[in-house]
Amino acid sequence: MKLILLGPPGAGKGTQCKRIVDRYGLAHLSSGDILRAERAADSELGRKAQHFMDTGGLVPDDLIIDMMIGAIKKASGGYVLDGFPRTVAQAEGLDEALNKAGETISAVVSLEVPDEAILDRMTGRRSCPKCGAVYHVVNLKPATEGQCDNGCGPLVQRKDDSPEVVSNRLKTYHEQTAAVLGYYQKRQASILQIDANQPIDAVTNAVFKALEGLDV
Ligand code: ADP
Ligand code: AMP
Repeated sequence: MKLILLGPPGAGKGTQCKRIVDRYGLAHLSSGDILRAERAADSELGRKAQHFMDTGGLVPDDLIIDMMIGAIKKASGGYVLDGFPRTVAQAEGLDEALNKAGETISAVVSLEVPDEAILDRMTGRRSCPKCGAVYHVVNLKPATEGQCDNGCGPLVQRKDDSPEVVSNRLKTYHEQTAAVLGYYQKRQASILQIDANQPIDAVTNAVFKALEGLDV
């Protein structure tokens, strides 16, 4: 199964991806996680991406397309794309690479959340810098406050989860990313629209139910 998870920043893509990959044995390919790992390694790509990420903009398409096509090639089986494609140009780049490889996406899962719900989710997000696990100070608390459940140590608040950057990221989403859903509608892809403005477990149930209905 090859899935794309779409939705605004803070919609719950990472949270739901973790559950989807655990259930279906897929690879989780998160462009944000890959970029953060590149930054931690102080690679050339990480240095190029830094400014865009810190200000809530998008890293240039050519860098992202190369990075994600590389990750897809390394994932031998099925996968879930999280945070990619984020522009129509990226969606076209992905299609071109899939066509060349004779592959297609099984479905696009669209997590739908109104902007009003986003700020609280993102400012309350806490992340593990070592294993990438994601928590929330109210909605998904770790067993011990401020500590990763996987024994990695302290959780951090991402710098780009500050209220100012969140508002830029939402603006970027509406200006450049929201159109990606329309792109897949035009391509008549199988689109699973999920009400993600409900508790985390209810969203997971809705996603699993929708995936069970897929003919793959
Ligand atoms: P994304 O990957 O789309 O940016 P995350 O999965 O990191 O979003 O979720 C953002 C924050 O919101 C996290 O702190 C997460 O625990 C919390 N969260 C995710 N889904 C929900 C939900 N359905 N209801 C409330 N909080 C949620
Ligand atoms: P995320 O972890 O998905 O919230 O992404 C964090 C940041 O990484 C974004 O705000 C962007 O600056 C950058 N980023 C992640 N994925 C992409 C992408 N597909 N295209 C461009 N920039 C991206």
